[in-house]
Amino acid sequence: MGTRKFQASRLFTGRELTKQQVLITDENGIVLDLVPASEAGQGIEPLEGILSPGFINCHCHLELSHMRGLIPEHTGLTEFLFRVVSQRQFDKEEIAAAIVQAEEEMIRNGIVAVGDICNTVDTIAQKAAGRLYYHNFIEAIGFNPAIAAQRFAHSKMLYEQFRTMLADTGLPGGCSIVPHAPYSVADELWQLIIDYSENKILSIHNQETAAENEWFRSKTGDMDNFYKRMNIDTGFFQPTGKTSLASYSHRFGNDQSVIFVHNVHTSADDIAIANDTGHRNNFFCFCPNANRYISNQLPDIPMLMDQHILPVIGTDSLASNHQLSILAELKTIQQHYPSIGPDLLLQWATVNGAKALQVEKQYGSFEKGKQPGILLLSDDLTAVKRIL
Ligand SMILES: [Zn+2]
Repeated sequence: MGTRKFQASRLFTGRELTKQQVLITDENGIVLDLVPASEAGQGIEPLEGILSPGFINCHCHLELSHMRGLIPEHTGLTEFLFRVVSQRQFDKEEIAAAIVQAEEEMIRNGIVAVGDICNTVDTIAQKAAGRLYYHNFIEAIGFNPAIAAQRFAHSKMLYEQFRTMLADTGLPGGCSIVPHAPYSVADELWQLIIDYSENKILSIHNQETAAENEWFRSKTGDMDNFYKRMNIDTGFFQPTGKTSLASYSHRFGNDQSVIFVHNVHTSADDIAIANDTGHRNNFFCFCPNANRYISNQLPDIPMLMDQHILPVIGTDSLASNHQLSILAELKTIQQHYPSIGPDLLLQWATVNGAKALQVEKQYGSFEKGKQPGILLLSDDLTAVKRIL
């Protein structure tokens, strides 16, 4: 079997940026060794840029890919949600073709594993081709306690279909049933989700809009208007007088790993509360381009970093983003928060993401035996090319 030796100007191991390191792999990209250039011997392929393990996209909605460009920017979250749920007139072929194209785009952009939110089985056929690793987050939504059991049964039916696809194809992959957002899940549905014993990795849209905190504090504002507009009865909801995250983070189990997505209106106190409830693994996912698209706001990432969070990166869907590119997300963070160095950003996009999706045995860093994907990034982090 042939080996390959790669040396670029710099190499990101998954944890740090190094120089003068040579990556040795087999022809399929399985890492055999990482050695100083002086010990690498003959046959080194010289490259210009930064070698990096493949990117992990911790938050996507592949099934919404056909909605690219349909919803205008800066509508705010509740208007955005209203438009997503009210635009349903697409034919199956259009949806399927957009999924194929969007996956191809992720592959081109160096993504190797995806945490993908699913409300339908529309993505199953493409996922069965095994081109990317997927953890399928089957989303449960239901604000009416009376239909909690029915909503959960629906999610479980979808879950079984994804599980069956994985079993039939023998592909690696994960599945769990997750709450959509704190404001869209009744207590009864929460309990069913949390108690579901197969749920090890959970994910939730968290504090994407200020209205979410206002809803929990006082049951007023944009979220209240949204429910009225949707004709959803919220009579049974009692405000907690606290922020959203402070109101619900205790619900997750101690053996569950949670990816909190967005965190645009998350405070230091919120993080302290979330980290004080004994969770072993809390990950905080940033999708800055979607935040810009929907509300033109960004999370206060440096402040959140001071709380010792584990950040990961997501693209969200093409309904709220112009592209599915982790590098484009890193670029946006870098532009707004230039104090955050490239080594940290790349950590979030690789090793942290692999931990969040529990795939660090294969992905996230250049360590012997892994097959993490090999990317060549331009030195200014503006371009990505797949090497293997
Ligand atoms: Zn999302």
